[in-house]
Amino acid sequence: MLLIFLIFALPILGILAGYLHRRERSQVRLLCPACGGEVKRNYLACPHCGTRLQSECPGCGKPVRSLWRGCPHCGTPLGGDPR
Ligand SMILES: [Zn+2]
Ligand SMILES: [Zn+2]
Repeated sequence: MLLIFLIFALPILGILAGYLHRRERSQVRLLCPACGGEVKRNYLACPHCGTRLQSECPGCGKPVRSLWRGCPHCGTPLGGDPR
């Protein structure tokens, strides 16, 4: 009886573990570049340290990342991180 249970239970556990693993991977976690705290994609500033994560393009007003050097929407240079 126990053997039958194991034969049925093991594949189910395997599928469950694989599903949980995949779900974890598909969740993209964004981290604050300054403090490493977790932030969400639509956050304009880090709630942990206040670092600005996004700002608005002076050309078209759409949200842009502070690291971007130019606006992808209209091409306005943003003068971001000079790397
Ligand atoms: Zn931060
Ligand atoms: Zn723009």
